[in-house]
Amino acid sequence: MNSTTPAIAFEGVEKNFGSLKVLKGISGEIYRGEVVAVIGSSGCGKSTLLRCFNRLEAINGGRLVVNDIDISRPNLNRNVLRQLRSQVGMVFQQFNLFPHLNVLDNLTLAQQKVLGKSKKESAQLAAQYLEKVGLSEKANVYPEQLSGGQKQRVAIARSLCMNPQIMLFDEPTSALDPELVGEVLRVMQQLAADGMTMIVVTHEMLFAREVANRVMFLHQGQIEEQGSPREVLVSPRSDRLRTFLSRLN
Ligand code: ADP
Ligand code: MG
Repeated sequence: MNSTTPAIAFEGVEKNFGSLKVLKGISGEIYRGEVVAVIGSSGCGKSTLLRCFNRLEAINGGRLVVNDIDISRPNLNRNVLRQLRSQVGMVFQQFNLFPHLNVLDNLTLAQQKVLGKSKKESAQLAAQYLEKVGLSEKANVYPEQLSGGQKQRVAIARSLCMNPQIMLFDEPTSALDPELVGEVLRVMQQLAADGMTMIVVTHEMLFAREVANRVMFLHQGQIEEQGSPREVLVSPRSDRLRTFLSRLN
């Protein structure tokens, strides 16, 4: 892999749902090892942008290159898609664990099915990542027996088991009780410190400020303003961003 090429490069990316234009020709780059926090009002296109990055949504216009794979074309070869999905992990607000599988099986299923690993090999890696997120003792329990914070840490560990190069987080702490937010943010902070490329849609301004290298403010499908957390969160330039930030408090 060439470390001088960005992890994600997007140029004039457009995404429509029928007549609704959601992403209106947005351009930018995400560098390797960078942690980018994406903020913006509900409905501005944050989730859609993330979903385009791992091709849960196909774009309608522009160019999008993720981990050196051009995913702009409307029809992507299945192998290319599989390659992309294993390189780009995604963590959702609602965890999306498999309820009928215990934690260990949640972590080994895709390793075996997608990466073709043995049961033993996949279980070893699962144990390693469960330890990393502080949940070694939960390998044999089912998701319903876990707190929201624990579920989200399992979801992160499950993603990491695929050995992704890029991690996308879509409001990973929004469904959690306030007292459980910290344990998830700490795991993400550790991941960032380990050098993972991360794009995090979040309302946690403290996390954005302390962990992100860059904050990107989306407004109606465009990047309205971006910069260091200090620039964006402390000295916003645009009125829209100022209004957005003032409403958070
Ligand atoms: P955000 O994550 O910033 O709240 P989204 O990216 O989820 O916003 O949505 C942006 C806009 O696109 C919203 O108006 C939403 O209703 C619309 N939208 C998102 N997904 C779909 C879809 N699958 N079909 C139709 N409209 C959608
Ligand atoms: Mg969203």
